[in-house]
Amino acid sequence: MVLAERVSKIKPSPTLAVSAKADKMKADGIDIISFGAGEPDFDTPQNIKDAAINALNQGFTKYTAVDGIQELKDAIINKFQRQNGLTYERKQIIVSCGGKHTIYNIAQALFNNGDEIIIPSPYWVSFPDIVLLADATPVIVTTQEKNEFKILPDELRGAVTPKTKAIILNSPSNPTGTVYTAEELGKIAEIAVEKKLIVISDEIYEEFVYDGLTFTSIASLGKAIKDLTIVVNGVSKAYSMTGWRIGYAAGHPEIISAMSKIQSQSTSNPTSIAQKASVEALMNSHGTVDTMVEEFNRRRKYMAERLNSIDGVSCLKPMGAFYAFPRVSPLYQKRFNGKKIQNSTGLADFLLDAARVAVVPGLAFGDDNHIRLSYATSFKNIEMGMDRIEEAIKQLE
Ligand SMILES: *Cc1c(COP(=O)(O)O)cnc(C)c1O
Repeated sequence: MVLAERVSKIKPSPTLAVSAKADKMKADGIDIISFGAGEPDFDTPQNIKDAAINALNQGFTKYTAVDGIQELKDAIINKFQRQNGLTYERKQIIVSCGGKHTIYNIAQALFNNGDEIIIPSPYWVSFPDIVLLADATPVIVTTQEKNEFKILPDELRGAVTPKTKAIILNSPSNPTGTVYTAEELGKIAEIAVEKKLIVISDEIYEEFVYDGLTFTSIASLGKAIKDLTIVVNGVSKAYSMTGWRIGYAAGHPEIISAMSKIQSQSTSNPTSIAQKASVEALMNSHGTVDTMVEEFNRRRKYMAERLNSIDGVSCLKPMGAFYAFPRVSPLYQKRFNGKKIQNSTGLADFLLDAARVAVVPGLAFGDDNHIRLSYATSFKNIEMGMDRIEEAIKQLE
């Protein structure tokens, strides 16, 4: 079979692949603790489920406007105003089938063959592949752990060429947990405005910031940068709604309408009842989000401490999202049962076999010296999983 060339340019999402392998071992009766999850372990709150059930019972089960119902757009506009001090009109908002789909639509609407898109690394696994699927070129800029994995203004300047079209930012970051301050974002904004770069700002972990940090959207730093920024967000992470598939974007009306045109010839509208549930999520979730974030904070501190107490492992305290991203490269070249651990994939395989713990190799995020552990699992699982990891690593020689 001759397949389209674009298929060979990309790989299946590696985070989903680890979950699949761990799930298979579980199904075979092996007791696996998974730190692979990219989603909250909490159930979707009942008031949100009820909104979907009501929508179903009322027969709200037909096509909707391609770019989302007005009620949801208004809830999104309200959220931007309330939480980010950002004012948008309806024609600046589009609702899509998840944040990933939103970013895909942006790429399809905006990128041409030859365009260079700057992606700081470590990056979310899907960014480079979504860029490739739009025939554009990902330009990976490796950030330094000593700079908390943040792209420095000089590093950004150094990567810009006449072909640069956009930069993809993700703060709080998956996988590193890095959160940019308003001041740091201001410097990036200055460069973007000077060089006329589009900023795609993936703010899906907005709610997950710790230690008294406040979240800043780069779009809120002035009119010039707001006009260049497409803010991406969604309900998956903040409201434990990963399966509902609702994400959204806000930005220049011309880009939003191009995205809507693409969506009209691919998915059409996002699911009608999930849109109704998302209105409820955005308007009435404050208590539940706070409770979830508080529990994540407790797990975060514990996991980071445990990781740092293991010889050969060191971990920056993650300031946002729900992942720890420890450096494990000092363990490379050590052996387990005579077999040498070569890289992050080897270490993840070793942990799965020897500790029965699933983690994601850093290579998936463009960094082979680290692994990613999600703390979106129960405190008890984290305790047991960390005990197992510690024990297994002691056995390396
Ligand atoms: C989870 C995630 C998304 C979007 O997820 P959806 O379920 O498609 O809404 C986007 N960006 C990052 C960095 C993520 O981790």
